[in-house]
Amino acid sequence: MHKVCPMCHSDNVTGAMIMIMGQYKCLDCGYSGPFVMEMDDDAYEELLLDDARKKE
Ligand SMILES: [Zn+2]
Repeated sequence: MHKVCPMCHSDNVTGAMIMIMGQYKCLDCGYSGPFVMEMDDDAYEELLLDDARKKE
C-alpha cells in the first residue's frame, strides 16, 4: 500500500504528524494536508507511468 501525495504523486509521504496535527506531509514537495491518496502497488505503478507519459 502506498500513501501518495496528491500534488506531486510522490509516495515519500510521512504520517508521523497525523496523530498530532491531523495532517500528512510530503517530503518531496512540502505538501501537508489531511488526506493523501492510498493505492496498491499496481495502481501506483500505473499512476507513475501515466505521469511519465504526460511529460513527453
Ligand atoms: Zn508532494
